[in-house]
Amino acid sequence: MIQLYIPLGFLGVLYREIKQSLTDLSKMFTLMEKEREIADQPGAPALALQTSPAVRFENVSFAYEASRPILHNISFEIPPGKTVAVVGSSGAGKSTLARLLFRFYDVQQGHITIAGQDITQVTQASVRQAIGIVPQDTVLFNDTVEYNIAYGQPGASRAQVEEAARAARIHDFISSTPAGYATMVGERGLKLSGGEKQRVAIARTLLKNPPLMIFDEATSALDSANERAIQAELRSIAENKTTLVIAHRLSTVVDAHEILVMEAGQIVERGTHAALLGLGGRYAAMWALQQSSE
Ligand code: ADP
Ligand code: MG
Repeated sequence: MIQLYIPLGFLGVLYREIKQSLTDLSKMFTLMEKEREIADQPGAPALALQTSPAVRFENVSFAYEASRPILHNISFEIPPGKTVAVVGSSGAGKSTLARLLFRFYDVQQGHITIAGQDITQVTQASVRQAIGIVPQDTVLFNDTVEYNIAYGQPGASRAQVEEAARAARIHDFISSTPAGYATMVGERGLKLSGGEKQRVAIARTLLKNPPLMIFDEATSALDSANERAIQAELRSIAENKTTLVIAHRLSTVVDAHEILVMEAGQIVERGTHAALLGLGGRYAAMWALQQSSE
């Protein structure tokens, strides 16, 4: 019996390894497929940038797979330099909004415009250059901490990288490692926690200093002391920038120009914090729940 268990266990491991590498391959093909789908129009110009561009979603509908619609007829506007916040339960389609604005995918219906230009009619690279995104799950490059922070702003000096790292409260941690900013991170280097990766992504965005920002639950992996400090930092850099914030903690969005409450791919409530509280609906219930748990 015992002799049988060992080879079977080994086969199980082998099977998992093979399955994993197939998954990675299929991910790669999906990615290539996606890149092809969002190829630039021949001769597409670069996005003409303004300091604080307005963002508009006009009747946007979207599905990752044709059989399963995700977003239904979404319309909203972020006026120049303002912040619009999106809240709602997990799976509602919040991160999908962020991915569409960053042009990871093209919409199937409707339009997304930045400074009045349809993002499908300009180069994808120029759209991404204009946006700083702190995603829900940050994936770092297998490279140094410095490279990871400076990515998006390749000419940045060490002093600028450090300044951004300080503001994102990651400088002390980096300095405490033997190789400091030259430390390799990622799969083959230093493994960072979710919160540390998030802070590297925040430092990157602070350094890039783009006119348009997307924070997708950007501080969800941080402990509350770091979260408070970084939220203050994010608020100050977002001050006069056009910003889309996807929030898990409602206390961070009370000052938003407009709050969108999403449910199953639709906007079910919208308004300012005060208006939504007055409405006594879903947002008010979420607010009461979070207040009582804090
Ligand atoms: P939220 O950020 O509000 O939690 P998401 O926008 O991430 O929600 O996801 C909305 C829906 O789209 C979910 O049902 C999710 O399973 C689905 N979804 C997300 N990404 C993909 C993808 N790459 N392929 C297929 N379905 C996806
Ligand atoms: Mg999400």
